[in-house]
Amino acid sequence: VLEMGRPEHSVVTTCAYCGVGCSFKAEMKGEELVRMVPYREGKANRGHSCVKGRFAYGYSTHKDRILNPMIREKITDPWREVSWEEAFAYTANEFRRLQYQYGRTAVGGITSSRCTNEETYLVQKLIRQGFLNNNVDTCARVCHSPTGYGLGQTYGTSAGTQDFDSVEETDVVMIIGANPTDGHPVFASRLKKRLRKGAKLIVLDPRRTDIVRSAHVEAQHHLPLKPGTNVAVITSLAHVIVTEGLFDEKFIRERCDWAEFQDWASFVALPENSPEVVGQLAGVDPEEIRGAARLYATGGNGAIYYGLGVTEHSQGSTTVMAIANLAMATGNIGRKGVGVNPLRGQNNVQGACDMGSFPHELPGYRHISGDATREIYETLWGVKLDNEPGLRIPNMLDAAVEGTFKGIYIQGEDILQSDPDTKHVAAGLAAMECVVVHDLFLNETANYAHVFLPGSTFLEKDGTFTNAERRINRVRKVMAPKNGLGDWEVTQKLAQAMGLAWNYSHPSEIMDEIAATTPSFAKVSYDYLDEVGSVQWPCNEKAPLGTPVMHIDGFVRGKGKFIRTEYVATDEKSGPRFPLLLTTGRILSHYNVGAQTRRTDNVVWHPEDRLEIHPHDAENRGIRNEDWVRVQSRAGETTLRALITDRVSPGVVYTTFHHPTTQANVITTDFSDWATNCPEYKVTAVQVAPSNGP
Ligand code: SF4
Repeated sequence: VLEMGRPEHSVVTTCAYCGVGCSFKAEMKGEELVRMVPYREGKANRGHSCVKGRFAYGYSTHKDRILNPMIREKITDPWREVSWEEAFAYTANEFRRLQYQYGRTAVGGITSSRCTNEETYLVQKLIRQGFLNNNVDTCARVCHSPTGYGLGQTYGTSAGTQDFDSVEETDVVMIIGANPTDGHPVFASRLKKRLRKGAKLIVLDPRRTDIVRSAHVEAQHHLPLKPGTNVAVITSLAHVIVTEGLFDEKFIRERCDWAEFQDWASFVALPENSPEVVGQLAGVDPEEIRGAARLYATGGNGAIYYGLGVTEHSQGSTTVMAIANLAMATGNIGRKGVGVNPLRGQNNVQGACDMGSFPHELPGYRHISGDATREIYETLWGVKLDNEPGLRIPNMLDAAVEGTFKGIYIQGEDILQSDPDTKHVAAGLAAMECVVVHDLFLNETANYAHVFLPGSTFLEKDGTFTNAERRINRVRKVMAPKNGLGDWEVTQKLAQAMGLAWNYSHPSEIMDEIAATTPSFAKVSYDYLDEVGSVQWPCNEKAPLGTPVMHIDGFVRGKGKFIRTEYVATDEKSGPRFPLLLTTGRILSHYNVGAQTRRTDNVVWHPEDRLEIHPHDAENRGIRNEDWVRVQSRAGETTLRALITDRVSPGVVYTTFHHPTTQANVITTDFSDWATNCPEYKVTAVQVAPSNGP
C-alpha cells in the first residue's frame, strides 16, 4: 500500500476462492488494485477474511495470463494468435461440422464453479439451445454431486439447510470429513468461537485435523475412522439412537413417514450395525461411537457440517443420505442451530449446480423430463429440448475414447489435473477433434486444446456467486477485462457465431432471465441485491427476504424420507502389496490444483505437497522426516517428501494436491460414487518406500 499510494476509490465484491463467500472492498488507485479489505457489512464474513481472499489476488496480473485467443488445427501444432472474430467463427464452424458429421450429441461442455451464476447459466443455455442436447456437466461432478443426489432424495432439494449465523445457536457440532480450518477458514473461526462458548464437538475424520484439538477447543469425541467406512460408522450412530430410544418420535410422526422410519429403524438396529461390530471394522472405539451418538441426540441443538471426506467415495451419496437420516431421526432439522450443511468447496459450486449445469436438470434442480419445465425454456429459447439426460463428464470421456464424442467447450476447469484417472482423461481429450479451453492460463488440459479462449478474473466481472449457505452475493467489476471481453461476452459471441440471437447488454439481464424462469430466484435482481445486500434462495414472493433456514414447516419434497443405507465396502482394498490407505485434503494458503494461488505470494507458505505418514509406518520403512518417498498404487506412482506425524493413524497416509508435481490423480483409482460418478478420491491403497527423489 505504501508503494502504491492512497486508494482513490473502492468497489464491494466477493472472494472467488471458497464457498464461504466473503465480501471485500477492493481499494483501487486508477486501474490498479491497492488492497483487498474485508467488508464489515458482508453477511457471510462480517469483516473477517483469510489469507487467500485477502492476499492471493496477484494471479490476476500474473505474466502467465493469456490475453489473446489462440487456435491450432492439431495439438502438435504451435499455437497461433488470432482475433476474437476468427476464434469464434472457427469454433462455431468446428462444433457445427462435428454435429453434421457425427450427430447432434457428439459435442458438449463443462461449466465452471469458479465462474458467476450468469456465466454458467449461459454455457448450459448454449449447449441446450445451440447444441440441442443435454451434454452439460460441471466440476461439482468431482466434489458435491452426491450432496445433490442424497439431499434431493431425502429432503427434496440439493442445498445446505442453514445460514452460517445458525451456528450461534448450536449446542453440538458434528463435523464429518471436513477440515474447516484449512478449507473454510472464516466459517471455522465462527465455529471455534461457538465451541469456546461451550458448544460440544464431535469429529469423524481419519486424520486429527486442527479443529479436533486447537487453542481452547477440544473435541468431546474424535472418531478416527478408517477411510471408506463412513456409512458403517454413521449408521452405527443411528443404531445407538434407535436402540436406546433417543429418537424424536414427535418430529418423525409430524414431518416424516412413520412407516418408512420404522423400516429404517429395524434396519439400523441390526446387530451388524452395532458399535462393537462397526468399531472393529472402522478401527474406532465402540464407546466413542456410543458417546458421540448420545451427545448428538440429547445435547440440544445438533448441527452437522460435512465436506468432501463424505462425498468423494464410492458410497458418497449413501453417506449423505445416512447423515440426512440422522438429522431427521433426532429432529435436528428445520430451525436455527441445527441442520445438515455441506461445506461447499468452490466459490460458486452451489450456484453452478443451481443454474442447470447437470445433464439431467434445468436451472432450479428441475428434472429435464418434466414437460412443464421444458416448455418454459422451449418457449423462451424457441427450440425443442431433449427430454433425456445428457452425458456426465466421465461418460463424455468414455464416449470420446469410443469415438462417438468429438468436441467440448470447457469453461474455467482443468479436468486433466482435477479429474480421476489422468491417463483416461488424456486419452479422451486426445481423441476429440475440437477441444475449447476458456481459462486464464494455459492449464494442463490446454495441452490437448485446439482453441484457447482467454478468460477473465473475478476482479474483471459483474455477476453473482452463491455461497455454501445459498447466499447470492454480488460480484462487481473492479477493473476492465484485460483480454477485452468478459466471460459472459465470450459465451454470447460464440453463441452468436453459431447463429443464436442472443443480445444481452449486461449480466444483470441474464439474471433477469434466470429470475423469470426459476421460481427459487424469482425476486432476485441486481437492483434488489444492491438494496438488501445479499439474499439466500429461495427468494420469491413467498420469501421476499430470502430463506436462511430451510424445511421449517415441511420438507421441500413434503415428508422427509428415511432411506436404508447399507454399508458396502469399496472395491479399493488394502493388502500385502498396497498396505496403506491414502486420503487427501487442502491447506489454508492454497486452493485446489493451485492454478491461482501458486501464482501469488502465498506460494511461499506451502511450496510443495508432502506425504503425512505415522511414525510407526515411517520407521517400518526406514523413512525419516523430509526424505523423498515413492507412493505407488494400482493406478500409478508419484514421488513426494515425507512428513512424519501422528495426525494420521497407523495404516493411513495423507497428502494435499496443490502442486502439479504431486500428480495425486495419477495414483487415485477410477472407482466412483454409485449414484453420481463422483470419484473416490479419498481412498487409495498404496505402498510407500524410500526414494532418491523425482
Ligand atoms: Fe475467500 Fe473463503 Fe477465505 Fe473467505 S474464507 S476470504 S471466501 S477463501
